[in-house]
Formats: sequence, C-alpha cells, structure tokens
Amino acid sequence: MPAVHWFRRDLRLADNPAFAAAVDEARAAGDEVVGLYLLDPTLWRSSGAPRLAYLAATLAALDRACGGRLVVRQGAANDVVPAVAREVRANAVHVTAATEPYGRRRDAAVAAALGDTALVPTGSPYAVGPGLLSTRAGDPFQVFTPFRRAWLDHGWSAPAPRPRDVPWAALPSEGTPHAPATDVALPEAGEEAALSRWADFLRDGLVGYADARDRPDVDGTSVMSIPLKWGEIHPRTLLADLAAVTARPRAGGPSGDDVARFRSELAWREFHADVLWHRPDARTRSLRDVLPDDAWAHGPEADAAFDAWARGRTGYPLVDAGMRQLLTTGWMHNRVRMVVASFLVKDLHLPWQRGAAHFLAHLLDGDVAQNQLNWQWVAGTGRDAAPYFRVFNPVTQGEKFDPAGDYVRRWVPELRHVTGAAVHRPWDLGLDRPDDYPDRMVDHAREREQALADLQRGKATR
Ligand SMILES: Cc1cc2nc3c(=O)[nH]c(=O)nc-3n(C[C@H](O)[C@H](O)[C@H](O)COP(=O)(O)OP(=O)(O)OC[C@H]3O[C@@H](n4cnc5c(N)ncnc54)[C@H](O)[C@@H]3O)c2cc1C
Repeated sequence: MPAVHWFRRDLRLADNPAFAAAVDEARAAGDEVVGLYLLDPTLWRSSGAPRLAYLAATLAALDRACGGRLVVRQGAANDVVPAVAREVRANAVHVTAATEPYGRRRDAAVAAALGDTALVPTGSPYAVGPGLLSTRAGDPFQVFTPFRRAWLDHGWSAPAPRPRDVPWAALPSEGTPHAPATDVALPEAGEEAALSRWADFLRDGLVGYADARDRPDVDGTSVMSIPLKWGEIHPRTLLADLAAVTARPRAGGPSGDDVARFRSELAWREFHADVLWHRPDARTRSLRDVLPDDAWAHGPEADAAFDAWARGRTGYPLVDAGMRQLLTTGWMHNRVRMVVASFLVKDLHLPWQRGAAHFLAHLLDGDVAQNQLNWQWVAGTGRDAAPYFRVFNPVTQGEKFDPAGDYVRRWVPELRHVTGAAVHRPWDLGLDRPDDYPDRMVDHAREREQALADLQRGKATR
C-alpha cells in the first residue's frame, strides 16, 4: 500500500519527520509515496495576492524537489484527501500536526471523513509542540520568561535527515497554481532558498544581531519569518545550527548574546503558538478587555483614519515608512510593526483586529498565531503585554532606532531631500517641508493622553 504525505505548512523535504514517516512506511511496504498538496479554496480566498504569489512560487519549488511528482488537487479537504487515499488505497495519510484553530477543525473533519485510513500527525511547525508545556501547577503559561525557561529545559530533537531516493508515486495532478499578479518584489521562495538565506545569515548576519535587530535602517535580522511561516525550514534546524555556533566559537564570530537573543525570538514564536493553542478564541477576541467599549473609534472618520494608516499617509514618517514597506515588499521590520500597531490602536483608537486583518492580507509571513498575538501584545490585551498601558512614541522611536533617518528616506520619497534625523519631524522643516507629504493626522501627545484616560476607565470597570 502506498503512503500519502499531505504537505501543508511543511513545504520542505529536509527535517520533516512527518514526511520521513510516510517514506518509511511506503518503503516497509515496498510501495510508493504520494506527495499531496491541497489548494484549499477557503485559504486561497482569504489571502492577498502577494501571499498567493509566494505560495505559487514555493509550490513550484517543492514540485521540482519532488522530481515533478507533487500531486496538487483543489477542493474541500474532507472531500479531496479521502478521495486521494481511496484512489491509491493508502493505509495512512501522514501530516505535520496543525495547531491553529482553522487547521485543527479541518483535520478533525478530515480524520472523520477518512474512516479506516488513519490521519497520522507527526511533529508540528514548532520545536516544542504547542500545549506540551505547563506551569508547575499544570496551567498554561501566561508569562513569556518562565515559558522560555521551561521551553529550553524541555529541549527538542535533532533535525530529521532528508529521505534519499524517495519512491514518488505518479498520480494525476492539477498542477501548481499560477501566481496572481502583484507589484510586490517577492524574495526567492522554496526550501533551497531558505536554507541558503539562513546559511548567509549564520555566516554574516548573526554577529551583532543582539544590537542590530532593533534597527530598521540596517539589514540586521534574518527575515526567516517567511520560510518559517510556510515551513520551508523548521525552527529545529535553526536551533541546531545555533547550538553548533555556541559549541564552536570563532574569533570575530557571534557573541553568546547574539545567539541567546535569536533563540529567544524563536521562543516568542513558540509562546504565541502555545497561547493560541490554549485560547483559539484569541484569533479574534481580546484576551483581556483593557478598554471600555466606547473607547473605540468608528464611523466614516474612523474609516478614513484607517485608510490613511494603511496607505502610509499619517504624517508620522516612521509609521508611513513601515506601512509603505509592507505594501511594497510584503514584510516589515519588527520594531516598526510595533510602532505602527501602537499608532493604530492608541493614537487612532481603532480596534487591533482591523490592523491585524490588514497585516494578514499583506504580510508574506502573515501567520494567525504570530500576528494576532503580537497585535494583542501591542494593544495590551494579550499575554505578557506588560505594561499594557505602553504607548509607542512614533517620533522618538524613529530618532532612536533610525538615528540617521535612512529607513524613512528609503520608503518615503517625499522626504528624501531631508538630511539626518530631521526627517522624523517634517513639521519643523520650515521652507524645506514638502507640499506632497501629509500633515500629522493627529497630535500624538493628545491621543496618548486620551488612550491612557481610556485605559484608566477600563481598569476602573474591570
Ligand atoms: C503587530 C505585529 C504583527 C506581527 N505579525 C507577524 C506575523 O504575522 N508573522 C510572523 O512570523 N511574525 C509576526 N510578527 C513578529 C515579528 O515582527 C516578525 O516575526 C519579525 O519581524 C520577522 O523578521 P525576522 O525573521 O527578520 O526576525 P528575526 O529578528 O531574524 O527573528 C528570528 C525569528 O524569530 C521569530 N520572531 C522574531 N520576533 C518575533 C516576535 N515578536 N513574535 C514572534 N516571533 C518572533 C520569527 O520567527 C523570526 O523569523 C509580528 C509582530 C508585530 C509587532
């Protein structure tokens, strides 16, 4: 009997224990492996063009890695997956476990529809599966630092070797999808590109990461969030390489701080996945209601404010630079994500869910757990969002993390003639102030007071 491996958020062949299990099973039976990818209309409809174009490119790369044998089918999972299993009379369908709400519901429906054929989950997109760790009292972690400690203590297995000479089955395929048109210049997709980008970062980028990671004006982070989102690479591979860096320090190489900081960022990724595992409702609902209901802006003025934010026309250069980087590249630096998110929620008083939806539509790394929980963290409604009343100042954040103004000049052409940090305060430019750059849409100091007053009212009513 052949084995089926159903690829989802694990679009790679190396360090993929679920795929390795499918290959082992097929070999033991002297049979073949079906590599299946299902184009799910629900997910396809809910994604923006850049994400779909990236998906199309990574599927084309996976198909090449499978020797052209990737079987792509379209339709609802609980119809198509059992149909393929019946078609080849498979004993089991192997998957990397889905841990987010939609995937969990879908897999429960598919397992039921498969009947006697088993849906076999092995591993997850995380080094430590969401839901595995708990406090001494047996509760889910509410706070990041103890979670990270438990996560490090728990540890993870070594990367799974890539199966060689895979006996691929040849089945009719609808072919990998055509990429929709997009103006976004996509990074190279696929497992090979991810491994090569990671190798470059390990060699050249990890040195100084602990300091450079907060600077949007320099190329100081790995941009691995995109391949991690699609499973073109697994965090276990990154963690094993980081351990090797620590085991073999070299002169001029990354410091212990650089490595620890990078590992800690991966732990945040796992923390958010764990929170969503325990609280699937966090996808749409605030985990804590910190604001009274009447604090949120709505109506035509709020819609216009949202539109200005989304287009990068707020009059605050760091916010506008970030929003335009998102529209142009499908990615935004983490520091700037925090600033633009804070601006939407605390300066414009718009619900975090609106901003999160815009991000998900445009980010190539858009991921329900990371996106919704980071938005909740900034909004002060999430886990470990202390202090929940933090309000990022878009001007001083720019001066601190983009000290020479290079990041703003790169993304806001109206301000390219301005030298140095003056670019963060266009209202002080006098005659140099460009006509085509908008005035500040709100007064940050006043809106901050408003947000703090609302939070105080929220506290009183809790
Ligand atoms: C409002 C908001 C929305 C976000 N939405 C997403 C999202 O949809 N998808 C996503 O992957 N990340 C999201 N992030 C987290 C973070 O901004 C990105 O993971 C990071 O910018 C990716 O860049 P990098 O790979 O160069 O990071 P690096 O600095 O190189 O970090 C290495 C890896 O650590 C992880 N990481 C780093 N920072 C965070 C963080 N704050 N939370 C969780 N994991 C982190 C990522 O997997 C990243 O690839 C969001 C952050 C904010 C504030």
